[in-house]
Amino acid sequence: MQAENQTERELTDMLTAKELLGCAQALEPQLVEWRRTLHRHPEVGFDLTQTKALVKKALTEMGYEPKDCGKAGVIALAGGKKPGKTILLRGDMDALPIQEESGVDYASEVPGKMHGCGHDMHTAMMLGAAQLLKEHEDEIEGTVKLEFQPAEEIFQGSPDMIANGLLENPSVDAAVMFHVLGGMPIPAGVVLVPACGGITMASCEQYHIIVHGKGGHGSMPEKCIDPITAAAHIHIALQEINSRELDAHSFGVFTTGRFQAGAASNVIPDSAEMWGTIRTTDPEGAVTELLHKRMTEIVQGVATAYRCTAEITFSDYCPCMVVDKELAGNALTYMGELLGKGAMDMTPMTGGKPGGGSEDFAFVSHEVPTVSMFLTAGNANEGYTYGQHHPKVKFDDSVLFEGSAAYAYMALRWLQEHK
Ligand SMILES: [Zn+2]
Ligand SMILES: [Zn+2]
Repeated sequence: MQAENQTERELTDMLTAKELLGCAQALEPQLVEWRRTLHRHPEVGFDLTQTKALVKKALTEMGYEPKDCGKAGVIALAGGKKPGKTILLRGDMDALPIQEESGVDYASEVPGKMHGCGHDMHTAMMLGAAQLLKEHEDEIEGTVKLEFQPAEEIFQGSPDMIANGLLENPSVDAAVMFHVLGGMPIPAGVVLVPACGGITMASCEQYHIIVHGKGGHGSMPEKCIDPITAAAHIHIALQEINSRELDAHSFGVFTTGRFQAGAASNVIPDSAEMWGTIRTTDPEGAVTELLHKRMTEIVQGVATAYRCTAEITFSDYCPCMVVDKELAGNALTYMGELLGKGAMDMTPMTGGKPGGGSEDFAFVSHEVPTVSMFLTAGNANEGYTYGQHHPKVKFDDSVLFEGSAAYAYMALRWLQEHK
């Protein structure tokens, strides 16, 4: 927690935190309009035609020269007039393939698509930060790289932008993201910083198992090879990895969430399929490697024992999020200057343990020092009952200006202190 006088503190040759927050507040009507326009027209994955057009138009009107990056990303640079380092600010833009049931009057106008993770909030916050940084461009002691990212929900947008030069030209020295949080018993507008650093989110990966047998009439199993029996034994055998092969201290968990075979009660099907997810908090990837090896051996070995064949494939990998302790410490200081008691170390809440969710900005966190923070955007006790990804989730857009100020201030202060 920061002392009161630090909130007011004068920054040499720079605007004060209070002034910046005031400038951000003046942008509020525009921020809400951007956010609600995006909310009405959600787009998914890399198919962000309207979203990208809105972002690029707004950036161009502010005086930026936005550039495409990868399949659907946008990058803009602020500053660069004074020498210094480069800090990356990330906002993701994609929605979810779910039907909105929030009941807000600016609800999705696209059937089956919804901004249910709050990425519309992030895009608007980043546009606000872009505006603030443009207004104060002469005070930027280095360069701010603004990243508008697609396809976070499928963990593909971040690696696609990295592969297409996100972290080069100029090369990035530190990276920052915020994610809004809904449905928590915390007042809206609080920035939560994982000041302890380390792993704050688990890795995530999908797997798909297909077991091939030989189908036929249910009355004559001796003429068939039943893939359901083999798949059931595979499911049980896989549990041995969790209980007998993983170090008790290494966090690794996998869950088969979908198991499917057959269409009729009197028919032995040709195949059976299982789908699941693996999560680990091992930054080196040794747990993932062990899981890949042993899951493959068990799937194939058990299938063979029951006269079947089987394949397992892994996809949509997202590593665990690694937060840089020093950068997180800086973030807590700066957010305290900006928001006073509205900035908190989240370590006492988490006990320094990783949360369950995953986030593809984690790919960046394995390349450059990164901090991933949260901005609370709806108190569960004030009607913002539902959490992220729920069809009824709502986010309080009165926190947008704070989000914009937080992005901009984080960049200005870090560059000022790290020349
Ligand atoms: Zn999400
Ligand atoms: Zn999200």
